[in-house]
Amino acid sequence: MKKEQLPGNSRSESRAENHKGALFVPEIYITGRCNQNCLFCSVSANKPGGRKEPALSEIKNRLDQFKKLSHKIRITGGEAAVRKDFLEIIKYAKSIGFETIAVESNGQKFSDLSFAEKTVQAGADDFFISFHGHNAKLYDSMTCSPGSFTRAKQGIINLGNLGQRVSINIVITARNYKYLPEVVRLLRDKLGQSSVTLSFPIMSGELMRHRNLVPKMTDAVPYIKKALQANSGKTKISVQHLPFCVLGEANKYNIWVKVQKKTVIDNPNFVITIEPKNAHDRKDKGCAGCRYDNICYGIREGYADFYGFGELKPVKGKKIDDFRIFFAERDSLLK
Ligand code: SF4
Repeated sequence: MKKEQLPGNSRSESRAENHKGALFVPEIYITGRCNQNCLFCSVSANKPGGRKEPALSEIKNRLDQFKKLSHKIRITGGEAAVRKDFLEIIKYAKSIGFETIAVESNGQKFSDLSFAEKTVQAGADDFFISFHGHNAKLYDSMTCSPGSFTRAKQGIINLGNLGQRVSINIVITARNYKYLPEVVRLLRDKLGQSSVTLSFPIMSGELMRHRNLVPKMTDAVPYIKKALQANSGKTKISVQHLPFCVLGEANKYNIWVKVQKKTVIDNPNFVITIEPKNAHDRKDKGCAGCRYDNICYGIREGYADFYGFGELKPVKGKKIDDFRIFFAERDSLLK
């Protein structure tokens, strides 16, 4: 099979897709607009100077390119569903043969059952919905969008009733981290969710203006662990954007693992070379002696500037040279 580099883009267009860490999925950005104004937005949705919105013809061209790499595509933004031609984009992706069409969304538009049905009929069949609190007061205070908690819940319910696969992403903030166990319980018991990712915020975009919304990692981790325990095995749960030394025993749920330079992901459907270097990642002096150094991104520059490096505690032991070794170790713990 021909080895190809993912077409360049300012935002990563591939990501570890599941808790096995084995599959990478191309991602296509279609808009920087959004129907929420989240204080923690990492892409500065709705803000001047953000990424240019691609024309429909550009999007179709990119979909054609990505089809050569993968049978699966992930559509993202901003809020992808606010584009007038959102359904047309999905239909086009379906028409050129994508077998799975995933949509990243805040869920608001899917609270309208008719719109949710049209999206599914167009060909979308995998939804990654952001969800950030266990009550309206907390939730709407972070999205700055009155009614967003109620709409997000209804959107999740509608997609579930349409038989769709839904995965939830919770962005951890200084406002919600103490309630993570409650959020996980709500998702599991009232909204029937079986897949949840807990994402530590990446200090970029709008969040740089609201840094106080980012908790200290070591304050949040005890509640992350409680949320993992609250899960009691019924929901597939993952954690991302926290370094290994901070997560400790919760590493068995960690999906944020750096691949080595020029690592090639090779599977029957596509081949991707991933360049993991990010100019905004930072490590401390002691990191060089840590067993996770080669597979750890460290912390974001913005976080280091704000909180420093004091929470990083290099871990002793034989160095792990390849992310696949970590996943093999971790998956044996999950069995
Ligand atoms: S390399 Fe540094 S940041 Fe990463 S786990 Fe080790 S000590 Fe922590």
